[in-house]
Amino acid sequence: MEVRKGELTAIYGCMFSGKTTALIAEISKRNLKPHQLIVLKPSADNRHVESLLVTHSGLCYPCITYEPELDFNTLITPYTELIVFDEAQFFDKLFLFDIKKFLGKGINVIAAGLNLDYRKRPFGLMTSLIEFADHHVHLKAPCAVCQEPADYSFRKLNNNVLLLIGGNEYYEPRCGNCFEQA
Ligand SMILES: [Zn+2]
Repeated sequence: MEVRKGELTAIYGCMFSGKTTALIAEISKRNLKPHQLIVLKPSADNRHVESLLVTHSGLCYPCITYEPELDFNTLITPYTELIVFDEAQFFDKLFLFDIKKFLGKGINVIAAGLNLDYRKRPFGLMTSLIEFADHHVHLKAPCAVCQEPADYSFRKLNNNVLLLIGGNEYYEPRCGNCFEQA
């Protein structure tokens, strides 16, 4: 068994389930200074040209864009207390290994992302990450059709590209029943 001194929190759900809001709430309650926190976003998420995470208390944390060649370990300082992975479904498979290393060093990790893709299949490493997590924040959105709690991201376009990123022009949350009726 690996020694785990830090804790992993997984925040997950479908699109529009409030993952970023939950992420900001999780960060805010820890009262960290900007140099104690690292926020990473994958480069596939190109919605934000300039990326900043702003907490409820008004603290701004710059988001580092993750590229496959980036070595996370070069970002760590003796002050690092928390590492945040946003859109965690897009990180590659080495990243679980890195998370285990951070937890072993006593650094806490929060990973937020989509657990299922638009075909209801496990998205990237989110399933393993959720199983591995100490704390779970499972979010649901109101179904776009019936308003019941929804777990699925329904793609409105007939397009098979998995990495189509966008907002409500492409996707809407749907419960299991309304997803199947489409
Ligand atoms: Zn529904």
